[in-house]
Amino acid sequence: MTDKAFQFLNVERQTPRTVPVAIRVLGYGEIAGDFGTTQAGTQAERCIDCGNPYCEHACPVHNYIPNWLKLVQDGRIMEAATLMHETNPLPEICGRVCPQDRLCEGACTLEQTAFGAVTIGSIERWVTDEALRQGWRPDLSAVRETGKRVAIIGAGPAGLACADRLRRAGIAADVYDRQEEIGGLLTFGIPPFKLDKGVVRTRRDVLEGMGVRFLLGHEVGRDVEFGQLLDDYDAVFVGTGAYTYVDAQLPGRELHGVHDALPFLIANTERLLRDESVPHAFDFRGKRVVVLGGGDTGMDCNRTAIRLGASSVTCVYRRDEANMPGSAREVKYSREEGVEFLFQRQPLEILGDAEGKVRAVRVVETALVDSGDGRARPQNVEGTEYEIEADVVIQSFGFLPSPPDWLRSHGVALERSGKVATGVDGALPHQTSHPRIFAGGDNVRGADLVVRAVYDGREAAGSIASLLLA
Ligand code: FAD
Ligand code: SF4
Repeated sequence: MTDKAFQFLNVERQTPRTVPVAIRVLGYGEIAGDFGTTQAGTQAERCIDCGNPYCEHACPVHNYIPNWLKLVQDGRIMEAATLMHETNPLPEICGRVCPQDRLCEGACTLEQTAFGAVTIGSIERWVTDEALRQGWRPDLSAVRETGKRVAIIGAGPAGLACADRLRRAGIAADVYDRQEEIGGLLTFGIPPFKLDKGVVRTRRDVLEGMGVRFLLGHEVGRDVEFGQLLDDYDAVFVGTGAYTYVDAQLPGRELHGVHDALPFLIANTERLLRDESVPHAFDFRGKRVVVLGGGDTGMDCNRTAIRLGASSVTCVYRRDEANMPGSAREVKYSREEGVEFLFQRQPLEILGDAEGKVRAVRVVETALVDSGDGRARPQNVEGTEYEIEADVVIQSFGFLPSPPDWLRSHGVALERSGKVATGVDGALPHQTSHPRIFAGGDNVRGADLVVRAVYDGREAAGSIASLLLA
């Protein structure tokens, strides 16, 4: 064993420094700072090469984590970037937005001790940023064009990952998106303080350099017929996401001052992309904001409301902190930025004043009972109802798939929930009931994670290649 095997005894886990709270809440810049070469190398040396890399298993794209940590230790950044891209077409993005505490870092052997996990996500991010800055680009010199062509609908992480893999197999990839910029929720949903939009633009350059063609501002079903794409291409990948909000049917949801999470976040991002000085439809200065829901989207609403000048932001969640669905890191950042959490409160009703404006949310306390499926179930506690005063309420109860009509009309089977059914009855992984139509990401899984959409896109491209190049 080398001395480095015991590095974790001497070197503490360190994440890159974050921007001080007083500064970060004044704007929308990314709050996580960068590792430098030395810090990344030293942190990578904390990996004990345990022989059972659970981190790889827990990473949805099964990154070769210990192998690239070794390259980082040796300062071989370009090779590390190449290895990262073998499994993950968007490593700098996953390094930023993955809930590492629930994935790779949560499974790190050191995390099970008092020493703390290797900072896998921050290293992945730093290596890719640095390699791209130094000019790293995928080497496609050995790729032979096959003459096959695939249309991809949706430039979110699923579609982008699919495009990357198809180009590496010599298959033309044309990506259609109704938005004017690529990224899907990476660009329009996830706020810039988590993911700077310049990072997505750099990835666009990389993909275009690989020969991916983006046809933006093209909504399939409106500007382009789906049937036309089936005629024009050898196969189609559908990565259209999940955009139907879960409606908790709360009485009072029509009141002035009640917003749904996604339109609120999208409107804010679009304004920032265009011109931050344009007056905002959501001016929260001096307002008491209540966010309903404890997922990652709820955390993004909390932190955006703080930046919009809210006098207070209260996040109401019906389970306890241990049972929150999102990343612990985002809860920590929300708290640091001034968000107050009210756990075990079930919203019952939104109350308005005589002018139809929000004035409060009526909630009831909950007790958590064993549901038998490993997740605590909240049960309302009678007689504990009370009101939380509010000027603005943001509902963030999650999203359901929103399958376009043209999928069904072309014989693509859906599940009852609206998710696109793939890989059934002997079909290839990610192949739908139509042999030339493949799907992945949120429209197959329901609202999930970037890294799982990346996995689906990558694997779907593999299935498409095996169909077209057999
Ligand atoms: P999307 O990213 O939704 O992309 C779908 C694309 O399809 C869009 O660009 C859309 O314009 C396009 N499209 C749809 N219909 C058509 C059509 N008919 N024609 C042309 N184009 C079409 N995940 C994390 O891992 N970490 C996070 O921190 C995180 N934060 C989140 C914050 C918010 C506010 C939200 C809403 C989600 C967050 N997620 C996070 C989840 C993550 O963003 C999604 O799981 C992921 O983006 C899904 O990828 P996708 O490619 O399936 O779909
Ligand atoms: Fe961890 Fe996500 Fe990177 Fe996998 S892709 S190693 S889960 S940060």
